[in-house]
Amino acid sequence: QRPAAEVERGAFLSRCMEIVADQRENANGDCGSYPMECVRNIGIAAHIDAGKTTTTERILYYTGLIHRMGDVDDGNTVTDWMEQERERGITITSAAITCHWTQREEPLAKLFVGVPHRINIIDTPGHVDFTAEVERSMRVLDGAVAVFCGVAGVQPQSETVWRQATKYNVPRIAFVNKMDRVGANFANAVAEMRRKLGAYAYPVVLPIGAEDRFAGIIDLVNMRAIRYDPSDEMGLRYEVAEVPAELAAEARHAREELVHAVADKDDEVANLVIEDQPVEAGVLKRAIRRLTCRIELVPVLCGSAFRKRGVQPLVDAIVDYLPSPLDVPPAPGMDPADPGRPVEVPAVEDAPFCSLAFKLWSDPFVGKLVFFRVYRGRLNKGDFIYNPRTQRRERVSRVLMIHADKRIDVDTVQAGDIAALVGLRNITTGDTLCDEDNPVLLEPPTFPEPVISMAVEPKTHLDQQRLSVGLQRLAEEDPTFRCFTHEETGQMIIAGMGELHLEIIRDRLFREFKVEAHAGAPQIAYRETVTQPAEGEGKFIRQTGGRGQYGHVCLQIEPNGRGQGLAIENKVVGGAIPKEYMPAAIDGVNEALAGGVLAGYPMVDVKVQIVDGSFHEVDSSELAFKMAGIFAFKDAVRRAQPVLLEPIMKVEVSTPGEYQGDLLGDLSRRRARVHGIEARGQAVVLNADVPLSELFGYATAIRSLSKGRAAYSMEPAYFEPVPASVLAKVLDQSGGQARYD
Ligand code: GDP
Repeated sequence: QRPAAEVERGAFLSRCMEIVADQRENANGDCGSYPMECVRNIGIAAHIDAGKTTTTERILYYTGLIHRMGDVDDGNTVTDWMEQERERGITITSAAITCHWTQREEPLAKLFVGVPHRINIIDTPGHVDFTAEVERSMRVLDGAVAVFCGVAGVQPQSETVWRQATKYNVPRIAFVNKMDRVGANFANAVAEMRRKLGAYAYPVVLPIGAEDRFAGIIDLVNMRAIRYDPSDEMGLRYEVAEVPAELAAEARHAREELVHAVADKDDEVANLVIEDQPVEAGVLKRAIRRLTCRIELVPVLCGSAFRKRGVQPLVDAIVDYLPSPLDVPPAPGMDPADPGRPVEVPAVEDAPFCSLAFKLWSDPFVGKLVFFRVYRGRLNKGDFIYNPRTQRRERVSRVLMIHADKRIDVDTVQAGDIAALVGLRNITTGDTLCDEDNPVLLEPPTFPEPVISMAVEPKTHLDQQRLSVGLQRLAEEDPTFRCFTHEETGQMIIAGMGELHLEIIRDRLFREFKVEAHAGAPQIAYRETVTQPAEGEGKFIRQTGGRGQYGHVCLQIEPNGRGQGLAIENKVVGGAIPKEYMPAAIDGVNEALAGGVLAGYPMVDVKVQIVDGSFHEVDSSELAFKMAGIFAFKDAVRRAQPVLLEPIMKVEVSTPGEYQGDLLGDLSRRRARVHGIEARGQAVVLNADVPLSELFGYATAIRSLSKGRAAYSMEPAYFEPVPASVLAKVLDQSGGQARYD
């Protein structure tokens, strides 16, 4: 009798072979379902200009190619095919793109040595202004490739992207790109990852040559050289050979370092090292995978996406090291009937359907798409899905997978898959779509609070109508963008993450919705919060003949930790407030939260517990409980030492050294907290946290102080209490005059 593990592996392999056969037969080629262990949902994260687009494009070339090669005999046919593909154009701008990869021994071999894998590449924006976009993509991917520039190493924005991946517990592999460029230095990039990012980063490949002599890589796990044929511009032909003699010592040393780094954290490899046994490729690879999936190790590869070198080994590494949906913790959610009761949604196929809509997308060919990730169960075309937020069900008529060159209709999607729904309404980013009988609310991504707002005024009546349609659509797509009507002035206000963000919105209003509108000066979005716990009581009692009103709510509030947002909990026991009135009381608290008490700004980071109250058999009503909720909350806030919070921006200035002193002086006049001054090549990089209200005129100031040679970027970082010394000024300005540029 065969051991269980072997039987399991046998079954697994035959299932995979069925998939291969299925793919070959199926005209579409790609829509058969994959076992979850053969799926990778990844993001490619990078500093702008590090080569994210080029790398993604190359991955799509090679994966599309390999998959379709089937019976292609020689490289020429393949090259022709790629030329045609290029002419047809390849979509790499989509919220998610599906591709396939099967590892092979030789680049053009027909023999599969691996099993076919499906790789979904989820778009992650490179611009830090769009933190929310990064956040929601991080939420649905299981692993990431961090692309670094081999010349610049770890750049400031790569740190931001890295920290975001850390925040969301995303396992990573690193790709040091641009190895062909003058000044490329692999060892330096790895050293910077360790020093600046604190990453436990170890090369799994070494470059063969650098700059214009960059010829390929040494695969340290298998100890072999992959050398690209210099005459093949497509990067398709490479030779797999012995490690060249002149690099043998370096490679042996690097492998030893890798083995020791792994042994420090992995028992299986540690035991081999202690016993002085060789660590074979398969054993090492599996250990690297275990550590990478647990975010304890970052394997580092290198190549040149532009010169088409080292991309196939990168895709191999995605399959080898990054987690499948089975290797990551279950998705956190809660019971919609009892918010506060956490529910876990593990990746299982035979269970009630549960998925997260993470992006709305207008596709030029099929129109409005809702991208979603399935966490549990499966969805068939024709099924109904339930949206716990709207408490509505909708029938799914079409499900698509987006490939680089085509959109494929699929009949079924299952746990681990990423796909797009067509023709659904009433769905917005962050919605859970699930089985009606087993509703779950998946933890939606959290979005940073807007820091800046602006009034927009349509020019004509027609513009007015287009404006509301346009704004509504834009807000649906982008949860960090808000629009509302100012209660007192009746003006339409748009709010977002920064001036650039609002500018893009205005531009889209003009181009896509043909709205002509004036825009007011940008204003700062202040917030309010409390600094102490306090109790509050609110009663709404009216007894004027006929039926009266009676609502009574007692609650406790406390600071909820910076960035933790709002939480309202029902802690009432024994029916002091009947169940049917609780939603109204909570509504009241929510309404009061939105208006603050100091200067009318929304409150953040407050935890509210409704603890007690009373009711009247006849006179109680929803309205009375709502009012009592408002009063109780305001009562508590007044005792809880409320403060005004201002948005603090994270500012990064890069300047030639000679202007450093002047720029620092200017920053300190702006109440900046400088926490880093670092030489980077010829430039000095200053990092500081600066209140947004003090950044008035910064673009002009930095230009004149540095004769136009310094550059800066900023992104919202956090909110902080306005210091007493400037509070009066801020309150005065916030009457509508607080502005910055
Ligand atoms: P993204 O902004 O991160 O998406 O970067 P792109 O892929 O658009 O690349 C930015 C620039 O770097 C483009 O001009 C690319 O041609 C170039 N580039 C990308 N990868 C490489 C590479 O491996 N070597 C060289 N020399 N240039 C590259």
